[in-house]
Parts: sequence; C-alpha cells; structure tokens
Amino acid sequence: MGNTQQRQIVLDVIRESKGHLTAEEIFIRANKKRPNISLSTIYRNLGLLVEQGKILSISAPDQPTYFDHNVTPHHHLVCKSCGKLEDICDPKINVNDLVPKDYKVISTSLIITCICKHCQS
Ligand SMILES: [Zn+2]
Ligand SMILES: [Zn+2]
Repeated sequence: MGNTQQRQIVLDVIRESKGHLTAEEIFIRANKKRPNISLSTIYRNLGLLVEQGKILSISAPDQPTYFDHNVTPHHHLVCKSCGKLEDICDPKINVNDLVPKDYKVISTSLIITCICKHCQS
C-alpha cells in the first residue's frame, strides 16, 4: 500500500467521523478499513495532513491532541472532566475584534475549558 493511499484512509476516517478524533481513535478506525497501518504511520500522515491544511489539530491543556475535519476557523469547548470536545459555531462572535488594529491575525482558534452538562450532574 502506497503512502498516498494510507494518507487517504486517514483523511477518510477523519472526514467520516464529522467530529474530533484522537490519533488512537484514528488508528483503530483506519485499521478496520485496512489492517496493518502502524500507529507511527498514522502520526506521520496526521502531521502531513495538518501541514497541508486538510485537517486541524487541536491541543487543549491536559488533553490528547484532537484532529478535526472542519478546517474553517472555529472555536472549541473542552470538558475538563471527560475531555469531550465540541465546536463553537456562532458566526456573530468575532474574536479578531480583541486584537489591536496594528497586529495582523494569522489564525484564530480559541479553546474554552469547562465542565459539561453531563459532568456537572
Ligand atoms: Zn464532561
Ligand atoms: Zn472543531
């Protein structure tokens, strides 16, 4: 199996999930599609896909890195207790307004740590 094919499988897994996956979860799902893809191959391809802008990587404090199929700029909520990651998709919120006018914004990605509804009860 070629490198391009392996990368496509990794990308398919992430796009099909429509959510946020860790490298371990991607590894398990990719191996269901095509056995014998190693975890190091998964990591290498994830790195390349992030570099190519095809997926996003999200690193919240004290959480594993998540990979996101949605590459349009958006923000995230992460539950400190269970690690659940959710999108914040409110187009009214423009955090770039917080940036001084003489600074040039390269990219914007907020991660807000919270305790989710489920973990509060
Ligand atoms: Zn939670
Ligand atoms: Zn997201």
